Amino acid sequence: MDREYCVGAGMCALTAPDIFDQDPDDGRVLLLDARPSAHRHAAARQAAQLCPAEAIAVP
Ligand code: SF4
Repeated sequence: MDREYCVGAGMCALTAPDIFDQDPDDGRVLLLDARPSAHRHAAARQAAQLCPAEAIAVP
């Protein structure tokens, strides 16, 4: 995840709220869980696909 590319669209926080949130000050992404479980990993991958700024990379 690269906050420099984040445009604050919020798709990540909507798609995977256990993993991502948005900074109340600037709207950019905050990482809540850097090592999500296998189940959450699928949501993280979906969030990466939906991010309009391609700011999220899921290994
Ligand atoms: S979906 Fe992408 S651009 Fe939008 S808040 Fe999340 S990381 Fe930032």
